[in-house]
Amino acid sequence: MVFKSNYPDIRIPQDGIFQYVMSNQEGISDNKIIYLDENTSKGYTFGELKSESKRFAAGLREKVGFNRGDILAIYSSNQVDYPMVLLGTIAAGGKVTPVDPKYVASELSYQLLDSGASILIVHPDLLETAIAASKEINNPNFRIFLFGDNEIDGYKPFRSELIGEREIEPNVYTPEEANSTTAYICYSSGTTGKQKGVEITHTNLVSNLAQIYNVEKDLGTHSVLAGPFYHAYALICCIHVTLIYGATLIIFPSYNIKTLCHCIQEYKIDYVHAAPPVILDLINYPDAKEYDLSSVKIIVSSGAPLCRELAYMFYEHFNIRIKQTYGLTEALAVYYSNSNTIIDSCGTLLPNIKVKILSNDGHELGINEPGELCVHGPLIMKGYLSNPSAINITFDNDGFLHTGDIGYVDGQGNYYIVDRKKELIKYKGFSVAPAELESILLTHEKISDAAVIGYYSEEDQTELPVAYIVLKSEDKEKNPSLKNEIIQYVNGKVAPYKKIRDLLFIDKIPKNESGKILRRELRDITLGECIED
Ligand code: AMP
Repeated sequence: MVFKSNYPDIRIPQDGIFQYVMSNQEGISDNKIIYLDENTSKGYTFGELKSESKRFAAGLREKVGFNRGDILAIYSSNQVDYPMVLLGTIAAGGKVTPVDPKYVASELSYQLLDSGASILIVHPDLLETAIAASKEINNPNFRIFLFGDNEIDGYKPFRSELIGEREIEPNVYTPEEANSTTAYICYSSGTTGKQKGVEITHTNLVSNLAQIYNVEKDLGTHSVLAGPFYHAYALICCIHVTLIYGATLIIFPSYNIKTLCHCIQEYKIDYVHAAPPVILDLINYPDAKEYDLSSVKIIVSSGAPLCRELAYMFYEHFNIRIKQTYGLTEALAVYYSNSNTIIDSCGTLLPNIKVKILSNDGHELGINEPGELCVHGPLIMKGYLSNPSAINITFDNDGFLHTGDIGYVDGQGNYYIVDRKKELIKYKGFSVAPAELESILLTHEKISDAAVIGYYSEEDQTELPVAYIVLKSEDKEKNPSLKNEIIQYVNGKVAPYKKIRDLLFIDKIPKNESGKILRRELRDITLGECIED
């Protein structure tokens, strides 16, 4: 059975992203502050954003010869210039690949090389890592510019180098071009393997914005994101959505509970975007009562499973309703809660989306029957950058994207996520690809085979990456110092949230006949109390 949205289909706009988000459907005044930096109080009004992004587009074209289709990477924590750089690059006809600011040099260089970025705009604190990564990619045409106003070691601020004198007319797309042209390349491991560049077209993003606009009637006046900008959720549901509604997005560099509470009180935030661990933090934060959080009307939880008990506990504690959204980098926001959605459901289908729920043997299931969620609609990515084989695994012959998530739908069209079939580990809302950690483990001289899975910690309410190791020699060196040595070996090479939290020596990694790791069998090998935070 194919399930359709409860909402009637809408007309999907055929514009490019810049035209659509600047079309000003709500009649936003040019003086309206759209982005505001919590720390510096620097902001962008709607008018300034339009003007400066067109000048940035001019600078990119005229000062560094950035052409249509060229790729710009951003490697920075959240800050107020970030959205302008995104939109200016789009206005210049380019593509943006946002990089996780927690990445170490090898992770950054992988994304820069894989995406083909020719320009990197970097936060000054991350310059050293960016220089190390640029050495690894060894491309003489690759250029680095800085956020902020100061030159450091000969690296110049993008403001002095790339903002043109005049505005240019943003690149215009025909409907066919909007449909086929990639605007953002976000990285995801998909259902299997390492990080891959997800090609999000203009039409993918615009249709998702139009779908949300049709369903979400009120974004409030001030919103805040307790998460990073590089993630697809932030791109869609915060940076771009804000421009459609004309709400003010308050920006701070990186999440901590104190800053979040301060921001809510200071700016009378009514709409908070947060992953489940932030919701847990709010419940557990002893000083939360010191702040006036009464302005908050809605908390939107996304990016990871929100357990039913936590959702109800939060509601009892704060009397604030949690709405869930469900999405993935490859399919943007698919489900969205409205006021009628049951609190522990991840929402109902947005318009123009169809879903099949498949059993293990590929049969379509019905209401209340859990299976793999497979999604079809205008928001689904074009594909993985230069990786046709991964595309074949992800899409079926009918064009449905296989999400790797197990869920079901009730009789009212509320969807629930109950499990995950794909390899992905979610550590506090951050995505960790087991294949990436396994490939690092296999470079260790004493390891002959390795597998990594997510172990759910009730205490932390998150999955923790744990490794299962087969040693090369039969020497019984399975001692704590070797365990720590291996953990440190891997953890020094990856962003902090990807760190392996525990390690178990076993004799053999369970695999099927074609060599695929049987992760469910590993889950049954008890780790006991050895999980370390
Ligand atoms: P990412 O590509 O990093 O956005 O990760 C997407 C994955 O996060 C999905 O495939 C799900 O496994 C998980 N996820 C996102 N939203 C939810 C939600 N509301 N409930 C449960 N899991 C979610």
